[in-house]
Amino acid sequence: MAVDPGVSQIRPPTFVVDAHTHIFSPEIISGRGTFLAREPWFEQLYTNPNARLASAADILVSMTTAGVSRSIVCGFPWRDLGLCRAHNDYLAEAARESNGALAWLGIVPPRGGAEAAREAERVFGLGASGLGELNADAQDFDLTEAEDFGAVAEVCRAASRPVMLHASEPVGHAYPGKGTATPEKILSFVSRFPDLSIVLAHWGGGLPFFELMPEVRATLQNVIYDCSASTYLYRFDIFPIATGIVGADRVLFGSDYPVLGQARFLRRVLHSGLGPEVLPAVLSENAQRVYRLPPLHLEEGHLS
Ligand SMILES: [Zn+2]
Repeated sequence: MAVDPGVSQIRPPTFVVDAHTHIFSPEIISGRGTFLAREPWFEQLYTNPNARLASAADILVSMTTAGVSRSIVCGFPWRDLGLCRAHNDYLAEAARESNGALAWLGIVPPRGGAEAAREAERVFGLGASGLGELNADAQDFDLTEAEDFGAVAEVCRAASRPVMLHASEPVGHAYPGKGTATPEKILSFVSRFPDLSIVLAHWGGGLPFFELMPEVRATLQNVIYDCSASTYLYRFDIFPIATGIVGADRVLFGSDYPVLGQARFLRRVLHSGLGPEVLPAVLSENAQRVYRLPPLHLEEGHLS
């Protein structure tokens, strides 16, 4: 592989926002076995004892090591509204105590109708920056029959808050958590909610490549992509290639921590071939804009 001689000189811009991470309360981490029995998707992901669950304290340590100034933390796509509520309360508290280092996305069951819409209103009242990571397979939700999601979508649109969705590659290797939220289903979902700001995780299951088709691009104009879990899915030249197709204003740096370590993943993204002219947008500015995050005040590289 050709190496650009200047690439090792690339340094992160003033600050880095990791737009896709997951944390759990100490109660869920210590009671892991109970939740395996309650939710099939949790069982699929976390039966393996090596699949790590991280807390707010864990991610704050990771961020310091990695040089990440702010992380957007998500919970888990529970089917049960009560579990969503409890997780949302934990994220709200973690963010409140983080001095700006943590922003968060609320979770609701997409098919939960009026009750889920009320929970969406509640999380925005508590300071959530959006909803996510919603997961069609985990939450038994058909992206092509999205009428049930209308009430929640309306709350997000009224609050000008985005929805972040898990996306699945239609081809390639199988892995726990991959699911079936493939590009054609996501395109159907996006068409149903054209005014909603939607962030597609994991490069949208490959949807950026179909943006070379003009009608697909037109449908996806309110869609943003995050690069979470890239290491497991793509060669790293997906960064310059996909960013070249969709535009540097539509790609967010996100690790999927603790699936990936923030420090190593950030280093690899910095060496992926993205030019220094687009790094500030991808590493922080886009996340700040899309999730309407408060400004970051940095003092010698630390939050003040
Ligand atoms: Zn995901």
